[in-house]
Amino acid sequence: MMDTPLTLTQMLERAEKYFPKKEIISRTTAGIFRYTYKEMGERTRALASALKKLGIEKGDRVGTFAWNDHRHLEAYFAVPCLGAVLHTINIRLSPDHLSYVINHAEDKMILVDGTLLPLLEKVKDELKTVKAIVVMTDGETLPETGFSNVYSYEKLLEIGDKTFEFPKNIEENDAAGMCYTSATTGKPKGVVYSHRGIVLHGMALGLADTAALSESDVMMPVVPMFHVNAWGTPFASTWYGSTQVFPGPAPTPKDLAELIENFHVTVTAGVPTILIGLLNEFEKKEYKTGSLRGVLCGGSAAPKGIIRAYEKKYDIPFLHAYGMTETTPLVTISKLKSYQKNLPYEEQLEIRAKQGIVVPGLEIKVVNEKGEVNRDGKEMGELLVRGPWIAKEYYKDDRTKEAFKDGWLHTGDVVTIDEEGFIKIVDRTKDLIKSGGEWISSVDLENALMTHDAVLEAAVVAVPDPKWVERPVACVVLKEGKQVTKEELLDYLRPQFAKFWLPDEVLFLDEIPKTTVGKFLKAKLREYVAEQLKI
Ligand code: ADP
Repeated sequence: MMDTPLTLTQMLERAEKYFPKKEIISRTTAGIFRYTYKEMGERTRALASALKKLGIEKGDRVGTFAWNDHRHLEAYFAVPCLGAVLHTINIRLSPDHLSYVINHAEDKMILVDGTLLPLLEKVKDELKTVKAIVVMTDGETLPETGFSNVYSYEKLLEIGDKTFEFPKNIEENDAAGMCYTSATTGKPKGVVYSHRGIVLHGMALGLADTAALSESDVMMPVVPMFHVNAWGTPFASTWYGSTQVFPGPAPTPKDLAELIENFHVTVTAGVPTILIGLLNEFEKKEYKTGSLRGVLCGGSAAPKGIIRAYEKKYDIPFLHAYGMTETTPLVTISKLKSYQKNLPYEEQLEIRAKQGIVVPGLEIKVVNEKGEVNRDGKEMGELLVRGPWIAKEYYKDDRTKEAFKDGWLHTGDVVTIDEEGFIKIVDRTKDLIKSGGEWISSVDLENALMTHDAVLEAAVVAVPDPKWVERPVACVVLKEGKQVTKEELLDYLRPQFAKFWLPDEVLFLDEIPKTTVGKFLKAKLREYVAEQLKI
């Protein structure tokens, strides 16, 4: 067979050649902006030529500090197709993590959204390698800034060459992008994505048995473009010529619901917190959501109640998937096998709330101290993954040896695997609760609590206990206008769990502290609980 390289250039060129009329819609500070793949291709080439003139060379890291919008999409292709490396920087990092990732990646230039410039400005004096800043803004004039060497994105595009030819010397194993994990402990860890990894992952997103992304989709990624490349969807959607809708700066659930209605979005993707917010919006006002053929949910376990509400109340199919920054990210997806579709809905739901089976192209195994676990849905072990879109190391980081061993990525996720091959995440290794020698899954308790009608969000953490070593405590946020007591919630859990699983305490909060990508921040929550309970 021929050995042709798998590169992002071919993804973009396919959109330019075969889908020039298809559209990209972007919510910006100046309103809705829409254009075609033909125009997107020209602007992307102009950007690449301008970056080259500014001295960006093969292998250089170029940061983006931006929302999900059309300019970010242009950078997604212009930087890697030029041979440079797109470093998507998380806009919610603390200042010390922000300067750490930029310096660690040695970004030479940063493309920053005008609205986010003040955030970047905060770390200006810490940045050691950044030679230029390009401001992406809708206005004519550049915002005030203390940075030197500041360029206007739109002016650069005007002087750029929209017929620019991308270099031909890009190899499929060259770095195309990089992203840092949103570290809950320690410094963020960098992961480098190759062209080959992104292309193969993009192909996996299009399989009928995964997300089945295709030309006929109108894809709206809500998951940020700085969070594992919005799960690879902008790359795949461009390749397939799907219509894309970008929600722009700080979208509210109302903005998202309106975009879905106005642009007939067929697939959207986000973490459970975002999808819970959207569901709340649907409950407030009637929106036309009939175009949606799927919401892709990952990043944290999807509570059963949420899946049921999307499907039964709004007739919107729900797709639960699992992955991590290190895995580009798709690893498993929960779709029923043909013979499982005859089961009653509640039994189907039980299966679909699991994280699913491994997608074609990857391999997994689940191991504990005894070796591979039984496929009985009960025995727990750590999930190991390998395959062509799984990182093989952390970028210039000693922590590589903790996670990458014997050719496998050790995910740090504790799972069970059933006889059908569906994995179920029990917990992250560090979040499991061990009480009287027995394991308690915080995820299971959280999901059960979140099916209660009065509960918006619930997170469960361990507290130290003199007798049992650890005991679970639940932190609960109630839905607006709803009331429930600790005893009522425990009564609700009682039929579902062994007695020793029931939380010792239920604390009611206004909000659960979250990580920069919207997951429950357990470390912070543990501190809060310790303070409240005076432990
Ligand atoms: P970070 O590691 O910075 O939190 P990632 O997005 O890389 O950000 O997080 C990956 C982790 O998120 C996984 O290791 C797993 O613990 C959790 N996760 C991802 N998807 C799911 C899911 N569908 N269900 C439960 N946990 C999930």
